[in-house]
Formats: sequence, C-alpha cells, structure tokens
Amino acid sequence: MNKKVSGLAMATAVCMATLMSGCEAPSLDFLSSKKEQVSQPASTGDSSGTETPAEEPSTGHGQGSSAAHKPSMEETIQTVEGIPTVTNPEELYVIVNKQRALPSDYVPSDLTEPNVPFPFKDKVEKRLLREPAARALEALFAQAKQDGIELYAVSGYRSYKTQKSLYETYVRTQGEAHAAAFSAVPGKSEHQTGLAMDVSGLDQATRLEQTFADTPEGMWLAEKCAAFGFIIRYPKGKEDITGYAYEPWHLRYVGVETAEEIMSRGITLEEYFQESSSS
Ligand SMILES: [Zn+2]
Repeated sequence: MNKKVSGLAMATAVCMATLMSGCEAPSLDFLSSKKEQVSQPASTGDSSGTETPAEEPSTGHGQGSSAAHKPSMEETIQTVEGIPTVTNPEELYVIVNKQRALPSDYVPSDLTEPNVPFPFKDKVEKRLLREPAARALEALFAQAKQDGIELYAVSGYRSYKTQKSLYETYVRTQGEAHAAAFSAVPGKSEHQTGLAMDVSGLDQATRLEQTFADTPEGMWLAEKCAAFGFIIRYPKGKEDITGYAYEPWHLRYVGVETAEEIMSRGITLEEYFQESSSS
C-alpha cells in the first residue's frame, strides 16, 4: 500500500519533471507494470549496467525510406469518427503528432525485438520495434560500441491499449485537466508506430532528461543517428512545430536518405513534408 502511494507520488514527480514529454516513459513504466503485472516489481529503477550487451550484432542498415513521392501532409489525413487520422500508418515516414492520430486499431505487422541492451529485464512490449527500425537500431548500437559508447534501449513500441490505460489512469488519479496536459491522448503517441525508441546511456540521472544531450552518449547519437536512418524527432527550438519539448533521447526511424536530409538541415519531420505541399 505504502509502496503504491509512494510509487504514484514518484510517477507524478517524474511526470512534472518531463513536462509535455512525448515519451512519458518513466511514469508509463511504473503505471503499466503496476497495472498489468501486479506481481512483478516496477521495471524502473532496475539495477542496470550489469547486463551483458548482446554480442554479434546483426548489421544491415535499414533500407531507405522510399519517400520518393513525398506526399503532402494533407494527402495523408482523413477524419475518422471526428479524429484527424493518418491514412498511411504503415509508411516509414508517417507523421503522427497532436494533430494526426494513428487508427486506434493499428498494430504494426512486423514488430520484433532488436538485439540490443535494455536497462530492464521484463519481456514487455516496449522492447519492440518494426523490423527495419530494429535492424537499423542494432547497426547503430554496434557502431556505438565500436566507438566506445554504451547505449541502452529504454522504450520502443507502445500499443494503443497501453497508452489508453495510461491516459485513463491519469484521468482517474490526477483529473481530466492534468491528463490532458501531461499525457498523450491514445493514438497520438509516436511510440505506437513502432518506429520510435527512447535511448539512454548507462547514467540514470540523464535518462529521458534534456541533460542527456550534453553527455558523450547524447552527443554521439545526435551526430551519428542519421547515418543509420534515425532522427532526433523533437529538436530544441522546434517545440511550436512538433508540439513537444526537446527530447534528445527520442529517436525516430525514417530511413537513411530522409534522416540525413532532416538532420543535416536541422529541420523537423513536419517541415520536411510541409515543403512538398507548398512547392
Ligand atoms: Zn519517446
């Protein structure tokens, strides 16, 4: 009982700290593990770092995003039951944000667990990514290891159901206003695409914190991620475009070609596609 109360207080504190985070992984970890795996301890706060990184990374860069036709944002949205919903959830360059939801029944067909280190032992859905993103993450982590950089995959795929239960828990325990301010509405979390992974170093103090950007791991990621098809999805200074605060840990797979253009020009995924609709 006490444990539950203090856990909730902790989750709230973390929640407050990661204001408007697109990830909200710390509180989600706690709430979902509490809700769905009552007999197991919360997965956060595990002793990490003792895990042996997986050997023999199967390399192979993700195939390009094949964004050759680059559809405009207007072309890929339709209203479903009153909710602006994307028409191309399976595309590697799909844009999901606060104005563009995934279909509530969308589950990627090619989810798989990348062979990379995680800072927890539970066999939970957040280990998963879509196939091309998983292979690219393995290649990215293998390169990091070669460069003496130790990375961990903190939180990947999140189902609509998980996000919904998280959101409803917020509403129940914190009220509607708090939920609306601090938690992504079900369908609008990019983690549901299976193309996003939150990454950290060994240091838990900078895990899912903006200070991660200043760590060797954070700096390495920002420099190298595009070569493996990933972008820093919520860059600094672009909050008004992405709808989210700076998240130097949130990687989004879009394919090498698209990632390199976005990262080298310092633009967002939204801007990349807005250009095509205005030209
Ligand atoms: Zn994230």
